[in-house]
Amino acid sequence: MSEALFPTRWKHDRPPSIEEFVAAFPDDHACAAHLARRRWPRGFVCPHCGHPKGWKLETRPWLWQCASSKCRKQTSVISGTIMHGTRVPLRKWFLAAYLMATHSNGISALQLQAKLGIRSYQTVWLLVQKLRIAMIDPDRSPLTGLVEVDESSIPYRTNNEPLTGGQGKSTVGKTVLIGAVEKRDGRTSGRIRLERIDEDTREHIRPFVLENTAPGCTLFTDGNKAYVGLPDRKHVPRNLSAKNALPAHVTFERIHRVFSNLKRWALGVFHGLREKHVDLYLNEFVFRWNRRRSYWSSMDTLLGIGQRLPRITRRDIVGDTLQWKKDHEKQILKMVGKERLLKAQILAVEGKRSVIEALHMLPPEPKERKYDRERPFRPVLGRPPEGERLIPGRYRHPPRPSKAEMELGWLRHMRPAATQVAPF
Ligand SMILES: [Zn+2]
Repeated sequence: MSEALFPTRWKHDRPPSIEEFVAAFPDDHACAAHLARRRWPRGFVCPHCGHPKGWKLETRPWLWQCASSKCRKQTSVISGTIMHGTRVPLRKWFLAAYLMATHSNGISALQLQAKLGIRSYQTVWLLVQKLRIAMIDPDRSPLTGLVEVDESSIPYRTNNEPLTGGQGKSTVGKTVLIGAVEKRDGRTSGRIRLERIDEDTREHIRPFVLENTAPGCTLFTDGNKAYVGLPDRKHVPRNLSAKNALPAHVTFERIHRVFSNLKRWALGVFHGLREKHVDLYLNEFVFRWNRRRSYWSSMDTLLGIGQRLPRITRRDIVGDTLQWKKDHEKQILKMVGKERLLKAQILAVEGKRSVIEALHMLPPEPKERKYDRERPFRPVLGRPPEGERLIPGRYRHPPRPSKAEMELGWLRHMRPAATQVAPF
């Protein structure tokens, strides 16, 4: 394919095409081989005994077995990556990372679900959140040179409500953000950092700046006193409220471009961010910005290759939510019998405790007795004739009508109403 087809932006590093991806990762074995190459660039080395030979298991390509007859231990190439403990096939993970890394705006879990062909939305959502966690390398280096720092706020939405930006509604509000960007030559920007803070006050702003900028850099900020006197950093404050001051988006052009891009991205791709997961979405935005010109390496980062991540579970991301607990309690109450529930409710009111707690205090229900033919659980139809043994479960027909009765009934049914004779 001719290089002229690609826009200048991708002259040097364009995202891999779908064909290239399919050729590189045709199946789980190819994905496992890629992980093994990244883990052992010079060939397999057993992490338990240091033996230099081993082989891949054919049925589970992510497992390697040590060839030493004394060791024989198995090593997983997905441990320490984002895929640790997964049941989703490796190739789906790779495909998800490919789609996440190559879409310039990112992709929502709902869209990814259809593309990956995974039935459960929960599974895909968790997969995407894990990819977002891997986006931030814990060992990344702080920003250097000329750095613009400013605060902003972004509206968030709750569950399925539309985004309103906190106009008199208690459930919808705004999150305060702080951001920093490297100023490069001309109008270009370097790497960025974004973080959610509780308030734009001194005790929240200063830790962010100290953590994310290197000593010796020059900070460009507004007149906020929180930035004054930070150690080892040159400070250039601009008073935006002065009479002849330029507007903020001109003075702090770069950081304001970051904020406005972030807001448009949040609205366009996700229709607004949820407050609970704002940090993960910020991770994704920062990742996209900083890696916007290197696609293959960003796929490795997404999968957590070479990051030595701890194993992340659903509970780590979602937390033990109150709603989950409530639903669980409802289920328990549904399973309890009426009498037992009433007893528990009385106990709960008396002792000022929850019904669930009271249920635990009640003595266990007596075990159901074994089935006995002579004493059936359900009442039996029909009364046994005098002196006859009761046979449970046997259905007795009502006495059969006589022929005359049958005819009478038939006639009564068929006779037209008009010809009926009045009784007087
Ligand atoms: Zn070994």
